[in-house]
Amino acid sequence: MPGEPQADCLFCKIVSGDVPATIVRETDTTVAFRDINPQAPTHVLVIPKAHYQDAASLAAGAPELCADILREAGAVAADEKVDGTGYRIVFNTGSGAGQTVWHAHAHVLGGRGFNWPPG
Ligand code: IMP
Repeated sequence: MPGEPQADCLFCKIVSGDVPATIVRETDTTVAFRDINPQAPTHVLVIPKAHYQDAASLAAGAPELCADILREAGAVAADEKVDGTGYRIVFNTGSGAGQTVWHAHAHVLGGRGFNWPPG
């Protein structure tokens, strides 16, 4: 069922507490935790607690959660004090774009400069 926890999903295990993570924010519907392999001084992942495999599936199945994630991404940026200089929110969607974990997540990156187009 869309939205139901998946036994083999790493991020569902972070939501349940079965895999440890450095959680920086939590709401009824989302969890934000530090990326284990940070690509910037601030690199936090914001995920829905419900399991959807990517951002497109999330938007189709539970669009209200997209708003929750973006709101929390902004709150992370404010907490980390990177909102003044600017930060990047990234949803890698599909393996060709670099998605490696199949549970929708927003990367919140800040604390350094960024190039455009991204690599
Ligand atoms: P993706 O490549 O866009 O799917 O992003 C997955 C992210 O999850 C990568 O940036 C990984 O470094 C990160 N990651 C993988 N395992 C863990 C973990 O156990 N804790 C925190 N971050 C993780």
